[in-house]
Amino acid sequence: MIELKEIPVTQESSVFNQISENQHEQVVFCHDHETGLKAIIGVHNTVLGPALGGTRMWTYASEAEALRDVLRLSRGMTFKSAISGLNLGGGKAVIIGDSKKDKTEAMMRKFGRFVNNLNGKYITAEDMGMTTQDMAYIGMETKYVAGLPESQGGSGDPSPVTAYGTYMGMKAAAKRAWGNDSLAGKKISVQGTGHVGGYLIDYLVKENAQLFITDIDQDHLKRISANTGATVVGLDEIYDVDADIYSPCAMGATINDDTLSRLKCQIIAGCANNQLQDENVHGPALVDRGIIYAPDFLINAGGIINVYSEVKKLNREWAMQQTEQIYNTTLNIFNKAEADETHPQRAATQLAQKRIDDMAKIKQTY
Ligand code: NAD
Repeated sequence: MIELKEIPVTQESSVFNQISENQHEQVVFCHDHETGLKAIIGVHNTVLGPALGGTRMWTYASEAEALRDVLRLSRGMTFKSAISGLNLGGGKAVIIGDSKKDKTEAMMRKFGRFVNNLNGKYITAEDMGMTTQDMAYIGMETKYVAGLPESQGGSGDPSPVTAYGTYMGMKAAAKRAWGNDSLAGKKISVQGTGHVGGYLIDYLVKENAQLFITDIDQDHLKRISANTGATVVGLDEIYDVDADIYSPCAMGATINDDTLSRLKCQIIAGCANNQLQDENVHGPALVDRGIIYAPDFLINAGGIINVYSEVKKLNREWAMQQTEQIYNTTLNIFNKAEADETHPQRAATQLAQKRIDDMAKIKQTY
C-alpha cells in the first residue's frame, strides 16, 4: 500500500530517495550530446496499464527542479487515470530547455527514440512547450505517442472534453451545495479564458450563469466579454469577486494562504492542475470554511479520457460519455469525504489508490 500523503522532496534528497519517496517505478534520464537533448521520463505506476502523460519542455532553473516536476506530475497522472476508470498508469516527461530557442527536429526525434526504447511502458503526449509538429516528429521514431491531431488519425484537441468534465464536476458540486445542479443565475468567476476556460464559458453562458472573467490576454478577454456579456475583472481582483463559484482555469496553486481568506464562494471547481498549494493544508482549510472543492484531477480528466479513446481506438462520443461520469464520481467523492471526515481531494486520492491496489491484487494470479 502506497503512503498517500505526498512527501515533500527536499533539495538534499538523493535522486534515489526522491524516486522511492513516492514509489516511482522507473525514471529515465535521456541525454544526447549531438542534439543537446536533456530529458527525464518519469514512470510512476503501471499497475493499471502503460504510463501515459505529456511531455513538457521548460526552462527549468535547475536539473533538480526538472526532476521534482517530472516526479510530481507523473504521480498526478497515476491518480487521474485511476479515478477515471482508465486502464492507464501514470507517467510524464520533461525536456530541459527553451522551447522557442533550443528545439529542433533532431532533438524531438531523438527524444522519440528514447520513448521507443521503453517499448510502450510510457506513452507520451503534448504538454506545455510542445506543439503538434513536435509530436509528429516524435511519432516518426515511436508509435508510443498519443494526442495527435485528428488529421493524423489522433483524438485532436482535448480541451472541449476537459471543459465538459469540468462543467460536470461543477454541476455535481452545485447539486451538493444547493440540492439542485442548475447554474442559472449563479455568479461564477473564471480565471483563465484559454482553451478549456473558453469552452467552459460556453456551457455556463448556455445555463445563464452570471460570469466574471480574467486573463492576462486582454484582447482575448475583451472578445469573450463582448460575445458573452461576462464582466471583466482584474487579475488579482478575481479572488475578491462576490461569486458563488470560483473556477481556476489558468495556473496551479491559486488556493493558498493569501487567497483563502479572500474567496467568498461556496464552490471551487476548475480545470487547472494542482489548484491547492498544499493539499494537506488547504484541503482541510476549505472544509473548515464551508467551501465545497471539486478535486482538480478528477474534474479535469476529460483530456486524458480523450487521449485514452485514441489509444484504445474509441471515438469522441465514447470520450464524452465517459467524461459525463465525472458528475456521479464527484458526487460520490463528496459523500465519501463526509463519511470519512476528510476533504474531497484526499477522498479522491484514496479512491484512486484503492482501484490501483484492487487491480494489483487481481493481477497476482494468472
Ligand atoms: P491555455 O494556455 O489555453 O489557457 C490558459 C489561459 O490562462 C490563457 O488564456 C492565459 O493567458 C491565462 N493565464 C495565464 N496566467 C494567468 C494569470 N496569472 N491570471 C489569469 N489568466 C492567466 O491552457 P488550457 O489548455 O486552457 O489549460 C488551462 C489549465 O487547465 C492549465 O492549468 C492546464 O494544465 C489544465 N488542464 C488542461 C487540459 C486540457 O485539455 N487542455 C487538461 C487538464 C488540465
